[in-house]
Amino acid sequence: MIQETKVLTRHENVSGMEEVENYIRDGGYEGLKKALTMLPQEIVEEVKKSFLRGRGGAGFPTGYKWSFLPKEKTKPHYLICNADEGEPGTFKDRVIMEHDPLLLIEGMTISGYAIQSELGVIYIRGEFKWIAEKLECAIDNARRANLLGKNIMGKGFDFDIVVMRGAGAYICGEETALIESIEGKRGQPRVKPPFPAGVGLYDCPTIINNVETLACIPIILQNDADAFKRMGSFQSAGTKLYGISGHVNKPGLYEYPFGTNLKYLIMQAAGGIRNGKKLKAVIPGGLSSPILKADEINLDMDFDSCVKANTMLGSGGIIVIDEDTPIPEVALTTVNFFVHESCGQCIPCREGLSKIQQILTALLDGKGQNGSIETMLKITQSVNGSTLCPMGDAAAMAIQSMITKFREEFDTLLK
Ligand code: SF4
Repeated sequence: MIQETKVLTRHENVSGMEEVENYIRDGGYEGLKKALTMLPQEIVEEVKKSFLRGRGGAGFPTGYKWSFLPKEKTKPHYLICNADEGEPGTFKDRVIMEHDPLLLIEGMTISGYAIQSELGVIYIRGEFKWIAEKLECAIDNARRANLLGKNIMGKGFDFDIVVMRGAGAYICGEETALIESIEGKRGQPRVKPPFPAGVGLYDCPTIINNVETLACIPIILQNDADAFKRMGSFQSAGTKLYGISGHVNKPGLYEYPFGTNLKYLIMQAAGGIRNGKKLKAVIPGGLSSPILKADEINLDMDFDSCVKANTMLGSGGIIVIDEDTPIPEVALTTVNFFVHESCGQCIPCREGLSKIQQILTALLDGKGQNGSIETMLKITQSVNGSTLCPMGDAAAMAIQSMITKFREEFDTLLK
């Protein structure tokens, strides 16, 4: 039996953690206290050594991302916390922000010191109104306790945080679209390069990290990089929040060491498939990750193992699908979402996904035509690799995997 390791979610069932006294009583702000005795570059090196990788989906090593900032500081550096959690099947960042807001705030303050920033922005999806209010309350409490604002802990470091609410566009979770949105423009991804570490918010060097990533920073500093590494698997250190939804007996958020086996998470942690049904498929990392068949779930849930299995860890949002669920219907639900959320800049994403939506709708209405499944596959191939941001690719790969792995269910619709 694998033990659930509650690190980031240890306050999930504790109330009042937005109060500084409660947070400090449970070991809070020890990480910041230690960080302020170190040089910023030493913190960057410690985070590099910890093997912390971004929890937003891409898995890029956090310390290395921070290293891309210009060596000479000629403009302000900004820190943005990406709290625009909108990937279907994903519900992890909201739990940290709602139940342990000061963990995120402490993580941002340490990160702000490490990257020599004086301002952090939490960009939170607009639907999380009550969480935004809780964060604002916790920020006020931290300011009153001299843990934000001027001369933090009397160490001469100035840093503050503002909360900004998005307007409900999934694409604003993409870092450059998020920056555009903060700047008051339409939330559409920018052409890269330049990358935000060089030219970001208001053309200034900017680091964007996900909530779960930033919440790991105090844990690394409180102990050390080696202790953090011991919690995970090779090259995917720490714990991971796995949100398990769909046809399981105990859907919910589970925190386990990185690399915990997917079969264990579904069959043991989440109690197995509900109503005694058989498992048909699993989408392992949020809706945009390629689907797995039931016999492919003996898989370690870390970045590299998922890539080897031709899927993605993504956000760690595990969607479980039972034997009664037709995969063509799952595919239509998937493409409907991405058609709705496409920002429309790239023709392959805008037109290609719409065409797949039309073909799938016709297939499910009994009006499919010979060759239409091949047409969908060809469209997914032409979308893949020809778009400005990863959304087009991810949507295409997700649909492609459903068609290729469950081809017989699509073929049946043509009979
Ligand atoms: Fe917009 Fe889609 Fe292009 Fe991304 S891939 S920039 S969402 S049109």
